[in-house]
Amino acid sequence: MTPASSPSDAAPATRRPTVPRPGTLGTPGTSTATRVLLLGSGELGKEVAIELVRLGVEVVAVDRYAGAPAMAVAARSHVVDMLDPEALRAVLAVERPHVVVPEIEAIATAVLAEVEATGVRVVPTARATRLTMDREGIRRLAAEELGLPTSPYRFTDSLDGLRAAVEDLGLPVVVKPVMSSSGHGQSLVRSADGLEEAWRVAQTGGRAAATGGDAPVRVIVEGFVPFDTEITLLTVRHVDGVTFCEPVGHSQVDGDYRESWQPAALEPQVLAEARRIAEQVTGALGGLGLFGVELFVVGDRVLFSEVSPRPHDTGLVTLVSQDLSEFALHARAVLGLPAPEPLRLGAGSEQAAAASCAVLASGDGVPVFSGVDEALRLPTAQVRLFGKPVVHGHRRVAVALARGADVAQARERARAAAEALHVELH
Ligand code: AMP
Repeated sequence: MTPASSPSDAAPATRRPTVPRPGTLGTPGTSTATRVLLLGSGELGKEVAIELVRLGVEVVAVDRYAGAPAMAVAARSHVVDMLDPEALRAVLAVERPHVVVPEIEAIATAVLAEVEATGVRVVPTARATRLTMDREGIRRLAAEELGLPTSPYRFTDSLDGLRAAVEDLGLPVVVKPVMSSSGHGQSLVRSADGLEEAWRVAQTGGRAAATGGDAPVRVIVEGFVPFDTEITLLTVRHVDGVTFCEPVGHSQVDGDYRESWQPAALEPQVLAEARRIAEQVTGALGGLGLFGVELFVVGDRVLFSEVSPRPHDTGLVTLVSQDLSEFALHARAVLGLPAPEPLRLGAGSEQAAAASCAVLASGDGVPVFSGVDEALRLPTAQVRLFGKPVVHGHRRVAVALARGADVAQARERARAAAEALHVELH
């Protein structure tokens, strides 16, 4: 594993970034290298790094802790607080990347705009990373500027505002900090008695709370959507146009992804509407890269929920379902290469569907996995162990993947493989 290094160990300053010519890639470790700076080095970033390394890219991984998953794959790494503009500027100055790939939302986005202005490619664009880093930017763009269908919503900064929002929207509602993901700080409120608790949870559970600000945490209050299914439409904007993966279905517990599968069965007109929404929202964000467009399907209606301008956790299933995973597609797109429609592996065969099942650990300590052999004895099963150095509280530490004749069989196998894995915290 590459140990986390300080900026002083980084690329010699004699290396000059050259704007890569379309279709041209250099050799890592030399003055010709194509350098990609990965901001955020989690399990999704690790898979992106692997795909970039396969193309001979020099990957530099950044995270706020040493030993983050993508650091195991990168040529160099830096441990900095990415919300600290000075720290981020220092890394950029030393590494002089050609491409900056944000893998998380919590980044000093003003610095991304500065670096983009110097000709560096920010993925997908600095503006898109700013708009999608909080729920308000993207919701207002989708619903108010583009006129896309969404759940009814209000934004507020106070408990009174939350009560007023519920007067307007009716119950049930979903309350989420505007800066949050994976269910942190999120509550489903079914009766007025639950509003105070939802407000408290939002104030303590989101990203702003974690970074210790004094101001009240702003929340989005959304009317609860009794959806039939929710899907992620992985959408790639690349040099030759836009391509879509087959829709990914998924299940969530407390706002956090647990299982996903592909293909999600959708009526043709529903799929067409999903693609229309995905193309519009990703087009408005612009730039190059893969996006995870989250949609609710209610009868024959499709509602936009949110979008990640990067590979999506529910898209982990594409590691076994497609010839080019969402990570491979992202790597190609961000390098300015074509990303043609991926081939779904096993289509029309005994392995026509695929599924993923997240493996979570809770407690404190270093994960040690047993039962890996059991898991891998299951037909078609694969696992990815993320290599997270330590767990505090709840964390996703691995994913189990499988294929099957249909979605039900693929899910059953992925779940069985996940259950076979036992995580002890040492
Ligand atoms: P989010 O972080 O916004 O993706 O929310 C996480 C999960 O919570 C979603 O994938 C849904 O399962 C659920 N959820 C969020 N918003 C709503 C809503 N307005 N109505 C119903 N379920 C929701």
